[in-house]
Amino acid sequence: MSFCVAIDGPAAAGKGTVSRAVAESFGFAYLDTGLLYRATGAKTFEGLSPIEAATTLAAEDLDRDDLRSGDAGQAASRVAAIPEVREALIDFQRAFARRTGGAVLDGRDIGTVICPDAKVKLYITASDEVRAQRRFAELTAAGEDTTFEKVLSDLRERDERDSARATAPLKPADDAVVIDTSDMSIAEAVAQVVRLIQQKTV
Ligand code: C5P
Repeated sequence: MSFCVAIDGPAAAGKGTVSRAVAESFGFAYLDTGLLYRATGAKTFEGLSPIEAATTLAAEDLDRDDLRSGDAGQAASRVAAIPEVREALIDFQRAFARRTGGAVLDGRDIGTVICPDAKVKLYITASDEVRAQRRFAELTAAGEDTTFEKVLSDLRERDERDSARATAPLKPADDAVVIDTSDMSIAEAVAQVVRLIQQKTV
């Protein structure tokens, strides 16, 4: 039986942490779809066009160690606005969502485009400042030399581009449950999401 949990939201809202915890607690597989766009964006650093990069994306491209950097995030958001790039990545994501045993996918268009029939749709968000603080802590822990102000402005630029694009813009699905994690610990967000999913699985 397939059971898809769709988790969308802006950058650094806690989607990844919540998704991983949910996948572990229900034994579902987890796909971070942002990684597909980051890997596509990173391949353009070597001179490939975004469409070439997306259509030739291979498993080893997801192992690059620069995918979590701020530059890879910006490159991801630029290539993600190109309809042909999104099209090239759809089949893989949909097949993953249908896998037997359940799947959690996080991204920007999971509930709206990739899995419109998902059993559970969530839109996880938080204030700009809280998200930037979380991302700043992550990047500096990974050794990136950056400032809180740069992280905040990069994040706003990326969200603006993701929300304004014509194809699959960042927005909550009409039937998504919106969870604002600004004043919540990640553990509280996870507990809330686990309860919601349990209600759908009984
Ligand atoms: O989630 P993450 O921050 O890793 O995503 C990087 C970028 O990839 C986003 O800013 C967005 O432009 C793009 N993306 C997307 N659709 C998805 C996942 C990510 O457009 N489903």
